[in-house]
Amino acid sequence: MSTASITQSAQQALALAANQALLASRQGTFAVGGCIIENATGKVLIALHNCVLKPSSNLAANPAFRLHDPTAHGERRLIDWYFENRQRLELPPANALTVITTLDPCAMCAGALLAAGFNVAVSAHDTFAGVNFNGQFDFPSLPPAQRLLAQTTWGYYAVSAPLERNYVGACDGPVYAGEEVDAATFSLTSSLFEVSVNLVHDESSNTGLPPSVLTDPRELSEQSRVRQALTGLSPWSLRVKSDNPRIPGAELAQPLIDVASQAHAFNAVALLDPFGNLLACLGGAENHSPIRTAFMEITRAYAALRWDLMNHDEAQTRSEARQHLTHPRYCTFIMLYFPDPTGSEAVMTLGAYGSTVERPTAPSFPSNLQYVLLPDGSTAKDVAQLAQGLPPFYTHNVQVAPCQVLDEELVRAAQCLSDHAQRVGSADG
Ligand SMILES: [Zn+2]
Repeated sequence: MSTASITQSAQQALALAANQALLASRQGTFAVGGCIIENATGKVLIALHNCVLKPSSNLAANPAFRLHDPTAHGERRLIDWYFENRQRLELPPANALTVITTLDPCAMCAGALLAAGFNVAVSAHDTFAGVNFNGQFDFPSLPPAQRLLAQTTWGYYAVSAPLERNYVGACDGPVYAGEEVDAATFSLTSSLFEVSVNLVHDESSNTGLPPSVLTDPRELSEQSRVRQALTGLSPWSLRVKSDNPRIPGAELAQPLIDVASQAHAFNAVALLDPFGNLLACLGGAENHSPIRTAFMEITRAYAALRWDLMNHDEAQTRSEARQHLTHPRYCTFIMLYFPDPTGSEAVMTLGAYGSTVERPTAPSFPSNLQYVLLPDGSTAKDVAQLAQGLPPFYTHNVQVAPCQVLDEELVRAAQCLSDHAQRVGSADG
């Protein structure tokens, strides 16, 4: 679309977002779209849609493998676009802009929008996964400071007759605050999403062999493209193995600390497959975008790697990928540090995890989302309360239940190495 477009009303701005939702629907992914508008001028900076499922151009890959990026929601894509282009295009600060979205943001996108500092304007409600799931504009899922921030920077547009909904939200903050949108456009944003959601949900959670029939990727030859892709993703790949993937031990301390020491923010996340193999250990790229944290990077990178290999030109590579790389809900995520549970990053992380696994994991204990350490001043109870307060999708469907790793030796080893690495880091700085 032309980036020179100027909007003059909530209706015009939402029409652009709704058009993106239509494109998403045609692509067969979650039908959600959005755009970024400059508050002062009504100028449209960019419009994008959900891209969780994406077709491949390789027709030989049959059945088609379409799960591309579980975090590629419209809002998350808009935020990363903004930070990628902010300097080059001399874009205004995020608090002078509004992200307009056809659907109430999920926990991941709500956390990301608050972390990035955008104003937000919303059309349709989402009573299952939306951060305003109860429709009360009190955001019970958010930590108190984030709740206040959302109440002063977010708004839900009024809807014209015959639906007649009042505007709810901040008086200034969101562009076109207080305005109404056409009932027809509003209904489109709502019904498009409802039609897409079950179809897409089933496809994005049904794309991996269960552990009982999976083959250990350690048996792959050095020439295997699957092995090479894993090594390219993370030099630690397939070099460390835990006896029990849900109860990893001190063997994970070194990869986590090494990767955290080289990352922009001192953190790292390890992904273990059902055999206990360390598939990847990655840090964040917050220097590119504040929402590109270690967890976001690893879940996106693993999904992108699977999408590429499952749609590869060579049939052997496609079959090796299917046989050795399963859906992340059968894997275990081990975070070196869980983010501060009073901040927006914690909400984003739990939300991104929910979008990654899509349904309960089996076995659910110990959880497949674990952390080794907590930031100073926060407790396991704070983390558990945050998870339990999330919208119904996360508590009923996915049953998000982050826990600390059970192996005390891993906690001690990571703490000791972390203290040392951060002392060295601060001495360097
Ligand atoms: Zn989202």
